[in-house]
Amino acid sequence: MVVGEVAVETDVVVIGGGPGGYAAAIRLGQLGKSVVLIEKAELGGVCLNKGCIPSKALIHTSGEYHKLSHISKMGIRLPQGESSFHMNEWQGWKSSIISQLNKGVSHLCEANGVTVVKGAATFLSDDRIGVETGHDFETFKFENAIIATGSRPFLPGFLERDGTHILDSTDLLQLTEVPEKLAIIGGGYIGMEMGMAFSKLGAKVTVIEAAERILPQIGAAFSQEIQKQAKKLGMTIKTSTKVETATVVDGRVKLRLYSEKAEEELLVQDKVLVTIGRIPNTEKIGLTQADVHVDERGYIPVDQSCRTNRPHIYAIGDVTPGMALAHRAAKQGVVAAEVISGLPSANDSDLVPYVIFTEPQIAGVGLTKEEAEQLGYQVKSAAFPYAANGRALATDQGSGFAEVVVDAESHLLLGMHVVGAEASNLIGEGVLALEMSARAEDLSMTMHAHPTLSEVWMEAAASVLGHAIHVVNKK
Ligand code: FAD
Repeated sequence: MVVGEVAVETDVVVIGGGPGGYAAAIRLGQLGKSVVLIEKAELGGVCLNKGCIPSKALIHTSGEYHKLSHISKMGIRLPQGESSFHMNEWQGWKSSIISQLNKGVSHLCEANGVTVVKGAATFLSDDRIGVETGHDFETFKFENAIIATGSRPFLPGFLERDGTHILDSTDLLQLTEVPEKLAIIGGGYIGMEMGMAFSKLGAKVTVIEAAERILPQIGAAFSQEIQKQAKKLGMTIKTSTKVETATVVDGRVKLRLYSEKAEEELLVQDKVLVTIGRIPNTEKIGLTQADVHVDERGYIPVDQSCRTNRPHIYAIGDVTPGMALAHRAAKQGVVAAEVISGLPSANDSDLVPYVIFTEPQIAGVGLTKEEAEQLGYQVKSAAFPYAANGRALATDQGSGFAEVVVDAESHLLLGMHVVGAEASNLIGEGVLALEMSARAEDLSMTMHAHPTLSEVWMEAAASVLGHAIHVVNKK
């Protein structure tokens, strides 16, 4: 890096230190580029500080707590009333995890020669960026830039967040007490993950979803399984229902709902989480000065190299159209860094796995049966139930199933989807199988250790071929 009179010169500036931005910066450092990573809040972005990590810490805690009321059948007894959950203390544990990971990212940046600058960045032109550091204004001149400014929750005008009663996901994860009555507007993955977690911690949870079913993005059989489990947890699910107004009166939120079935309904809640979508952070970063285009929804379109309409400026992660997931952001970050460094890298795979940390978990990669049929494939599919897997039963996790979708003639795997315990870890095998263009025979002939949940894939693949051992095969 050369300190000039006006601007500090660097090969690359990366704006935003989330999973996309820091992965890009570290890879650039490894490839010998001088790189400035600008972050206005904390390294790790939404994922580490307000999203994936704290939400999964809460989900894990709620699962452990909930188990306590179900272990007597295994011969374990707790004296009455001994277990209780203290969310204020949980906050301390959560912060310690975040702090440990923050330090890890900071150390990795340093070790790879990345200069981290704390402040809010704005493009001043197509080769300069200004950073408001609070007490100073620094300018950087760059050869290449990577935009990784992420996204934030979308709340419509009539559901104005006050941070106390009407909350976004960040507020919810900062509560120090479990609310008695919690309404969740939006039955997508964040809504269902948080709803189930708070329900296990003792809240009376109502989920309000405008679509006909919760988790509308995934296959119907999978969302039905989660709806069934949510009801078992005592949650109320209102689908095809819209919130018309939300007003805070005497410290509680009055929600006026409308559905064709029940017409108008009034719901009084202690807290309301609004989680109906996210919007990209692309407005206040000077994109016009850099002549970078956004689409009608504010996202920055990119090609397979993650290049924007300006070939020396790249965009990655939640600011680009596509699934807003941390692993997609990180992959794009690595691709952008490698392309900038002259390597033949591309983000050319459609295989973006998804995981939903509900009870039980859902995960998938590739096409669902319906999607494959719509694309004109002759499809065969088979599902293997967890109830027929020894490990699932021995760990009291017998709900769910794993499904493989194959091309009927070649048996090429088109999609692998699972709802059940440890789905999040099981999907790794699915991603690798699809990336390697495996066939059902590859999965079914591969020896899977016993007793493990991974056997569900081997059995589902064998089932699609008509020779599963632990279920009766269809003739
Ligand atoms: P972000 O993580 O949003 O980071 C962007 C960074 O840019 C932020 O740190 C921000 O401060 C910074 N920034 C913005 N503007 C500027 C500026 N002008 N100057 C300097 N810095 C700036 N994804 C998963 O894959 N799995 C999960 O389980 C999962 N769970 C989630 C749970 C919740 C509750 C939420 C909200 C999200 C979850 N996500 C999950 C989504 C995941 O967090 C995002 O997809 C991911 O963080 C996107 O990464 P990113 O690098 O694009 O942006």
